[in-house]
Amino acid sequence: MTPLGQIIAAQIARTGPLSIAEYMALCLLHPEHGYYTTRDPLGAAGDFVTAPEISQMFGEMVGLCLAQSWLDQGGPTPFTLAELGPGRGTLMADILRATARVPGFHDAAQLHLVEASPTLRTVQKSALDRWAVHWHDRVDTLPARPLFLVANEFFDALPIRQFIRDDGGWRERVVGLQDDALCFGLTQPSRIATLEDRFARTQPGDLVETCGPAQTIAQDLGQRIADHGGAALIIDYGDADRTGDTFQAVQGHKKTDPLAAPGLADLTAHVDFAALARAAPCAATQLATQGVFLERLGITPRAQALAARLTGDALNTHVAAHRRLTHPSEMGTLFKVLGFVAEGAAPPPGLEL
Ligand code: SAH
Repeated sequence: MTPLGQIIAAQIARTGPLSIAEYMALCLLHPEHGYYTTRDPLGAAGDFVTAPEISQMFGEMVGLCLAQSWLDQGGPTPFTLAELGPGRGTLMADILRATARVPGFHDAAQLHLVEASPTLRTVQKSALDRWAVHWHDRVDTLPARPLFLVANEFFDALPIRQFIRDDGGWRERVVGLQDDALCFGLTQPSRIATLEDRFARTQPGDLVETCGPAQTIAQDLGQRIADHGGAALIIDYGDADRTGDTFQAVQGHKKTDPLAAPGLADLTAHVDFAALARAAPCAATQLATQGVFLERLGITPRAQALAARLTGDALNTHVAAHRRLTHPSEMGTLFKVLGFVAEGAAPPPGLEL
């Protein structure tokens, strides 16, 4: 067992099984052994690759979307330009490069990053070394002013709970111990007030997932945008109101057993965008697929302009990156984009109300 696995097993032996959320939070953010606390997991040498690490075009499109939304709202000054879970800082660096010529945007922007990992904060600091950056542990300490924000592959890392529908209630899926090894188990069935609406829409045997922290964050962002204006772009894999187990572990670009190597594998779940939209007290756009969103923002002409300067391997890599970001069989359909704006404001370009 990993060192963190031993700590978790000892805790279960002392106080009983953990919810999936408690297990996930320990695995990802344990101060000493957590997956994100101890490493930079991104890129070819790491465990997974994200859209901004595939091509600069992703951040360029997101940057132009946020800047146009800022212009559409009258260019409020100053405003918070924020990112949740900025990884290596690549997306924010691309956003800033792509918006350099938008008059007034950089002068008005104050950069705020929400990042739990000390290791990744160091990487972000060097990627954004020309900028004055404010880091936050949590969303609720962001300043009270207009907010233009992006979160790419952030919400999938937030801890989920899983419940299996029974005839008369829900059994929660938990992590327990059998013969000194971690294993999944189920609690006794009970009715759960916050799942009453889903009880009516599910069958016995269905599994539903909830993500309390995601709803709290969506509520906070939505309230800020309702109060001060701005826009948020939430980009991730997931869908709306689905059932089924999406809890997964990835290590070295391969799916693994989520209980096999606590602290050494990335743990994620699909994002329930319908729950985020319901939690936000501002206007939410319709859900768009990443492929459609990027096409509407002009990724193909941008890809062609960049391609004109490339040859050989560099050209092949670039063409493959464009396909990977947009094609339905790659990231184009699995990944979705949800936008928040104030009631009455125009939707961010690429999205519809
Ligand atoms: N957005 C980046 C990185 C995605 S990986 C990209 O697209 O490349 C997830 C990011 O969220 C990492 O930076 C991780 O450290 C951060 N993170 C995960 N859980 C978090 C939490 N609860 N609070 C703050 N940051 C978190």
